[in-house]
Amino acid sequence: MDKFTYHNPTRIHFGEGQIAAIANDIPKDKKVLVVYGGGSIKHNGVYDQVANALSGHQWDEFSGIEPNPQYDTLMQAVAKVKEGGFDFLLAVGGGSVVDGTKFISAAARFAGNDPWDILAKQQPVVDAVPLGCILTLPATGSESNAGSVVSRGKDKLFFMSPLVQPIFAVLDPSTTLSLSPRQVANGVIDAYIHVMEQYLTFPANAKVQDRFAEGLLMNLIEEGPKALATPNDLAVRANIMWSATQALNGLIGVGVPQDWTTHMIGHELTGNYGIDHARTLSIILPAVMKQRRADKAEKLLQYGERIFGITEGSNDERIDAAIAKTIDFFKTMEVPTCLADVELDSTAIDPVMESLEKHGMTVLGERGNVTLTESRAILETAL
Ligand code: NAP
Ligand code: FE
Repeated sequence: MDKFTYHNPTRIHFGEGQIAAIANDIPKDKKVLVVYGGGSIKHNGVYDQVANALSGHQWDEFSGIEPNPQYDTLMQAVAKVKEGGFDFLLAVGGGSVVDGTKFISAAARFAGNDPWDILAKQQPVVDAVPLGCILTLPATGSESNAGSVVSRGKDKLFFMSPLVQPIFAVLDPSTTLSLSPRQVANGVIDAYIHVMEQYLTFPANAKVQDRFAEGLLMNLIEEGPKALATPNDLAVRANIMWSATQALNGLIGVGVPQDWTTHMIGHELTGNYGIDHARTLSIILPAVMKQRRADKAEKLLQYGERIFGITEGSNDERIDAAIAKTIDFFKTMEVPTCLADVELDSTAIDPVMESLEKHGMTVLGERGNVTLTESRAILETAL
């Protein structure tokens, strides 16, 4: 295990009715801009709860953040923040709204010429408008991490800065009851693959991180299908919501090698073909497991044994079984597991390769040996 410093400053308010808690978390002298998406919060009562909680504050709103938040829309919000002198942002929605609000926060205080450089040139963020969030879709972990993913045309790029990490996050599982089955499944799969990308590498003698990661995977395997079968079960939603936060709040990733190949290839699939984020991951991860099985053999065996109880057979047979069980779980969650499932064939690969190269994604993987040739092989395996 490598040395690390761990600090997660996001204050979490978890449970039913916790939206009211934000009243004390935002100083009364702040001018608040509430940022949200296409209107789901107007239909499930979340907007009204936010309005009640903010009754002692001066506030306005900006709506229309799309899934895979779009740069041009976010820049409209940046203009509003600057013109209106807003000095606190409140994101209310899923990962796209939280990520989009993070970018608005950084772009509104960006000293350079073009805020796109924060993403395209990784220009450092030195100032940002403080923000908090109310999460309505458990998936990304964005509610308590420093990452943000923003899209512009075919370019889907990310940046990280501790300055845009939410000061607080409200996780009220009852707000997730209005999610469609598709979004429930997407969330479970995104969280599962966040864990896998911090776990399925080479062993690092990080026993706490491994056991935490395995606990999250097992919980998602147990609770995910229940959320589809019994959609009104609040206890199930609560366990999924807390799992998704823990999956990407830094805890299981400290001091261990990480492999974000699946996410990086997945971003290019969304950029080129508009496939939902989680569905790109359920297509690519099985191919990464197959293609990278030699480098990941020890952890694949550990994963198979501890998550699925696979102890019989040769190492190769056990790894095959672990990959097959993973695909079975994805199928239970009704997400695609290969490119053919989303009607893409080999002609889809070249544009994805061009995007990977354009975005500098030429050295991926925990050992830095996932070259473009290897990424192409992963995509071919995913056909
Ligand atoms: P999302 O794109 O935020 O939302 C998907 C859809 O779900 C939207 O149409 C939204 O509608 C709807 N929705 C949200 N909450 C709802 C609710 N409670 N009831 C009904 N509908 C609801 O989905 P997401 O999976 O959370 O976020 C995906 C984005 O996050 C991608 O861009 C991905 O790349 C990024 N991501 C970020 C990180 C990170 O660490 N920062 C990690 C992984 C992925 P409305 O717009 O009407 O609300
Ligand atoms: Fe993700």
